[in-house]
Amino acid sequence: MEKRVDQVVVQCSKGDIAHQEDMEAIVNAANAELRIGGGVAGAIHREAGPKLEKETRKLAPIPPGEAVITGAYNLPNNHVIHCLGPVYGQDKPEDKLLGDCYRKALKIAEEYGIVSIAFPSISTGAFGYPIDEAKKIVFLTIKEVIPTLENVKTIRFVLHNNEDLRVYQEALKKLY
Ligand code: ADP
Repeated sequence: MEKRVDQVVVQCSKGDIAHQEDMEAIVNAANAELRIGGGVAGAIHREAGPKLEKETRKLAPIPPGEAVITGAYNLPNNHVIHCLGPVYGQDKPEDKLLGDCYRKALKIAEEYGIVSIAFPSISTGAFGYPIDEAKKIVFLTIKEVIPTLENVKTIRFVLHNNEDLRVYQEALKKLY
């Protein structure tokens, strides 16, 4: 499913963030140490190969709400933007920190002239953020940021299961 919002196409699709062949950049739901880990970070590092961790090691640690960019190595993309989402119930204010992840990732994408970027659902796995709350922040944030974008033309949300996809699709339908 997709929807045009101003000059940007926003998409929701089911899949694996490490298999987004047509996207220039993908976003990692990273851990503070930017190490391989489980979930999204595991999938991205496994696919990218060990050179990714060699690069991320020099950039770690990062605080919640922060984002850094690296190469993508064996991934089919040009860049990986690593965001550290808040741990639900622990890192405060969690709504602002989660929004910051999307804000900063898109800011970096703009600076690098990136035209297409795919996001996983940051913080809603091991970090425990309820997806119903997270999706509100995600869509409020992109609504705020899209009018400022000049280079980014496609934003894709990649969801890992049908229920998460449904939640995001409902939110996208209601956007404007
Ligand atoms: P966090 O630690 O930020 O919560 P996780 O990687 O644990 O990050 O999970 C974030 C979300 O990504 C969860 O909803 C999880 O189901 C989903 N997910 C896990 N693996 C993948 C993958 N390979 N591609 C896309 N989404 C994934």
